[in-house]
Amino acid sequence: MAASLMCWGVGKCGSPAPKSTRLTPWARSLAASAATAMVAETSIRPMRPVKTWEVGLAVVIILLFLQIFGLKQNLAENTRNRYWRSGMHRLIYHRPIASFLLKSRITELCMWRWDQGRTAYFQFDALRQISVFVERHNFKAAQRSVLLAETGLAFAAPGTHSPWRNYSRVLKLCLLVSEIGEVAQPTRVAHLLASPGTVTCDEYMHFLARAFTDPSPALEGWEPSTRCRFPLLFTLKYLLTKRAFLHEPVSTLSEIFGAYKLSGFVGDESEAAFIDAVRRHKEYEIAGQKSQDDVRQARESLKVIAQISYLHLEKSEVVLSLDAPSALSILKGLRPVQGQKADNRELELRRLASQFRVGADGNFSDYLNAAANDVIQSGFVEGNKVKKTHLVIERNNSLRNAFFNSHPSALCDVCSLDTKATYPWAKRVLDLHHLLPLSSGIQVKKFSTTLDDLVPVCPSCHRAVHRYYDQWLSREGLLDFPNEIQARVVYGDLKAGFRGAVHA
Ligand SMILES: [Zn+2]
Ligand SMILES: [Zn+2]
Repeated sequence: MAASLMCWGVGKCGSPAPKSTRLTPWARSLAASAATAMVAETSIRPMRPVKTWEVGLAVVIILLFLQIFGLKQNLAENTRNRYWRSGMHRLIYHRPIASFLLKSRITELCMWRWDQGRTAYFQFDALRQISVFVERHNFKAAQRSVLLAETGLAFAAPGTHSPWRNYSRVLKLCLLVSEIGEVAQPTRVAHLLASPGTVTCDEYMHFLARAFTDPSPALEGWEPSTRCRFPLLFTLKYLLTKRAFLHEPVSTLSEIFGAYKLSGFVGDESEAAFIDAVRRHKEYEIAGQKSQDDVRQARESLKVIAQISYLHLEKSEVVLSLDAPSALSILKGLRPVQGQKADNRELELRRLASQFRVGADGNFSDYLNAAANDVIQSGFVEGNKVKKTHLVIERNNSLRNAFFNSHPSALCDVCSLDTKATYPWAKRVLDLHHLLPLSSGIQVKKFSTTLDDLVPVCPSCHRAVHRYYDQWLSREGLLDFPNEIQARVVYGDLKAGFRGAVHA
C-alpha cells in the first residue's frame, strides 16, 4: 500500500530493467496493492508481502475518503452548522490527509524503479560518455562490446537481451534519446552533454529535476492527459527552502519522503506554501519513518540529484552546503519545464529535452558566482562556470568534514608536505581537490557520496594543479577534460612533474 502511494523511488527489485507500474484509478490501485502485484512490461512479479496493517490502513483511508466527499456535500447543505463544521473539519478535513486523498484520486500513480546496480549509469560522467555514443551510433542496434569499448560501461544484462532492451529506459529517464522507429535519436540534451565543457553536472541535474515527472514519459503509465508531479524538483525546493528560511542544512531521507507523500505537492507550489511545508518537518519525519521500504526506494532517485555540487548524501541524510542567500537564489530559478505536452511518450521526451538551455537560468548561475567569488579574485579561477562548479564541490563543507573524518592525515597529495608538523598550531592546512572532469558532480555510490574522487592538497599545490590544468586544456583547445580517465591521467602527469620543494 505505502509503496503505491509514493512512487518515485528506485528499488532493488532484482530485475535488470526499470519498471513502470501504472496504478490506474485510485480505488483500484488499493486493491492492486493489496494483492501486491507489480505490473511490469514483460512480467508480473510479486513486489513484497502485504502486511495486515497495510490492508487495515487501506480500509481506513477508503472510509476517510468517502467521508470527505460526504463532508463536502454536507458543507454545502449545512453551512449554518458551525459546530459541526469547525469540529469535524479539523478532525477529518485534516489538510495533509485530505489533499493527499484528493490528489491521489486524480493522479495516475507511477512507479519509478530500477535495479540498484544501475546507479553507475546515472553518474554525470557516464551520461556524458553515453551521450557521445548516441551521437555516433544508433543505440537501439548497439552491440554490448562496442558499448563497453566506447563508454567504459558494461551494460550488463542476461545474454539474450540487447543493451537497448535493458537500458533504453535509463537513457530515456535521463532524456538522452527518444525512439523513432528503429532508431534511438539523440536529443538536444545528449547533443550538449557530448561536447566537453558545455554543460556542468549542476546545470544538467537542475534541468532534470525540472523536467522529470511522476509518471514519466520514459515509462509506461504516462499519457498526455496525465497529471504529473515533479518529485526531484519537489525535493530540491524542499531542501533549499529549509536552508533559506529555517537555516537548517540537513534533512533525512525519511523526512523528504514523508513530505512528498503528505504534502501532495506537485512541485510548482509557491514559496509561501513551501515555507509552510518545511515547518512541518517533524511530522514528515514521523510519516517517513513508518514507510522505510519506500524510503529505501526514494534514496535511489536522490542518489541521482545528490551529484549536485552543493549536496552531499550521507546514508540516511542529505546535507545542503550553501548559505541562505545562495539557497534562495537557486530556489527562485526553479520551476517545472513548461509548455503543451506532446501526443505520445517519445515526442514528449523530445519536447522536454528540447527545453534544455545552457547558461540561460540567470538566478541559477548567480550562486556559483557567490560561492566562488573570493577565490576567483585570487586568480585561482578565471570566471568559467565549469571551474566554478568544481570549486563549489571542493568547498562543500559537509563533504570536507566527511573526507577529513575518514582521512585524518595532514599530508599534501602532491608535495607530501606534512602541514600539521610544518604549522604545529594548525590541525591541517589542506584543500580538497576533485579529480573528475571540472564539470562533473560528486559521484554517489552505494549509500553515500564517494570520497574516492577527492585528494587533499596544500593550497600552493592546489593552485599549481589548476595552473597545470589550464595549460593542458588550452594546449588541447578544450574547456574541460573529455572524461574521468583523461582527468586522472593529467593529474598523474603533473604529480610526476613535481620537482620537490626548492629553497633558495
Ligand atoms: Zn602540496
Ligand atoms: Zn581543484
